[in-house]
Amino acid sequence: MTSQRTRDRLVARLRQRGLKDEVVLSLIGSVPRHIFIDEAWGHRAYEDSSLPIGHGQTISQPFIVALMSQLLNETPRQRVLEVGTGSGYQSAILAGLCERLFSIERIEALVPRAKARLTAMALHNITLRYGDGYAGWPEKGPFDGILVTAAPPQVPGALLDQLADGGRLIVPVGTDQSQSLKVIDRTEQGLVETIHERVHFVPLVAGVAKQ
Ligand code: SAH
Repeated sequence: MTSQRTRDRLVARLRQRGLKDEVVLSLIGSVPRHIFIDEAWGHRAYEDSSLPIGHGQTISQPFIVALMSQLLNETPRQRVLEVGTGSGYQSAILAGLCERLFSIERIEALVPRAKARLTAMALHNITLRYGDGYAGWPEKGPFDGILVTAAPPQVPGALLDQLADGGRLIVPVGTDQSQSLKVIDRTEQGLVETIHERVHFVPLVAGVAKQ
């Protein structure tokens, strides 16, 4: 099957699971997920599952990527920060939703690989950096949207500090066994938190790794 047909099937499956944002679904239908994973796993690229990308990390499950992108697409998003670039797949989807995307990754070896894929896709509104996303990226903030793709035990304070008025932070919070997806909006009345479904992400780890 061509990858376009397998991508269409993936989109149909996400629709079945209740995702409704047409802009996000069309991005899932057009971004070639197979270029973001190792060739050995290529035949599974359009399954709705997370897959290994080396260094003990995973490319997120398409349903979760789409769900988080849909939550982000409900609020302003001129400047968006992603914590945990990983393969760069979620970054490619986000780049289609916001004006400027900044993304941080703590494993040095993953950064040039993600950069090469995003450049090959001619996505030029993305800036990647190797660093510890626990601290956010204060020089580039405040951000209208912050999306964290690994789970901290608690919401990192620096990320809340860098959230613009009217902005939204989307973060899976919890331990290895039990995490839930939190959405925190900075409103005129202060921070408003909603809890979405149970999720399963790799942990957000403090500090950087040179491997
Ligand atoms: N969005 C990615 C998901 C990758 S998994 C994708 O679609 O492929 C989560 C990533 O978060 C991993 O690459 C991991 O190394 C990274 N990560 C974990 N802790 C981090 C931290 N403190 N700062 C930045 N990145 C971090």
